[in-house]
Amino acid sequence: MTVQFDRITLIGIGLIGSSLAHDIKRLGLAKEVVVATRSAETLKRAEELQLGDRYTTSSAEAVKDADLVIVSVPVGASESVAKEIASTLKHGAIVTDVGSTKASVIAQMQPHMPDHVHFIAGHPIAGTEKSGPDAGFPGLFEGRWCILTPLEGTDPVALKTLRGFWEALGSRVDEMDAQHHDKVLAIVSHLPHLIAYNIVGTADDLETVTESEVIKYSASGFRDFTRLAASDPTMWRDVCLHNRDAILEMLARFSEDLAYLQRAIRWGEGDKIFELFTRTRAIRRSIVQAGQDVDAPDFGRPHPLEKK
Ligand code: NAP
Repeated sequence: MTVQFDRITLIGIGLIGSSLAHDIKRLGLAKEVVVATRSAETLKRAEELQLGDRYTTSSAEAVKDADLVIVSVPVGASESVAKEIASTLKHGAIVTDVGSTKASVIAQMQPHMPDHVHFIAGHPIAGTEKSGPDAGFPGLFEGRWCILTPLEGTDPVALKTLRGFWEALGSRVDEMDAQHHDKVLAIVSHLPHLIAYNIVGTADDLETVTESEVIKYSASGFRDFTRLAASDPTMWRDVCLHNRDAILEMLARFSEDLAYLQRAIRWGEGDKIFELFTRTRAIRRSIVQAGQDVDAPDFGRPHPLEKK
């Protein structure tokens, strides 16, 4: 399905918003792109990077006459954005978001959406640990999944159009209900980030190992956690607060499984340890087979002799 909009408004122009801007321009998906962000500083940078055609710090102003509005702000800011844009949205506009949690975003935005717009929440499963308008790049969504969480009564034509938009960016699109999304993402994304934040914090607190040793020997495993643990603190604070139940459930499961491993180590139960490590190795193979990562050793990092 070919999609082209007269006007797309991007509210929030950080990593995700700016990556969308690059792709919309590159693929000619809109005749005009309006960029809105809260601070004058970020707006100025977006303009320097030529991410849109018009720029404003007023979201209400930005959404006027837009056919597609994409909200890319930390999930905790969803309600205030919805309130701000509600009265100036065009009849028939599609309003969507990219937030990492879905039930909370819907609860925050849906009540403020007028009947004459189509609100369909979404979440591209693509990103990096960087943030801000300089962090975005064309092709971020290529080959990645985007999950849409339509509600009962969502207009099928609007849904098809939004699906077409993400497909035009090279994404594969799935639909599921918001609660299910939040559960799935709690295990595949939120828990790994929390583990990373925690392990890096623990290493930082250790008094018996100096900081320079932690950094010096980090290639033995630690540094792979530091990428996740370098993710945006505001975004991840909001994810924790807005997917609380699913995250707490996954953390409880994780703690139980960790206790099992701890016990196996204490009692020298090598067979149990080996069985677990064999099972997890197969998961890595499945991820590579599904095209969600490359098969290169060490995530494809160049090694000194390879560079020559
Ligand atoms: P980001 O790079 O930190 O950019 C955030 C944007 O939101 C900026 O334009 C910022 O404006 C604005 N903003 C921040 N706080 C706000 C507030 N309280 N009210 C209104 N606007 C506010 O963030 P991002 O990584 O693009 O993430 C945006 C959304 O995408 C989040 O909901 C996140 O959960 C989701 N997401 C992120 C990733 C990822 O890997 N990063 C992946 C998938 C989905 P100013 O700079 O002008 O203050």
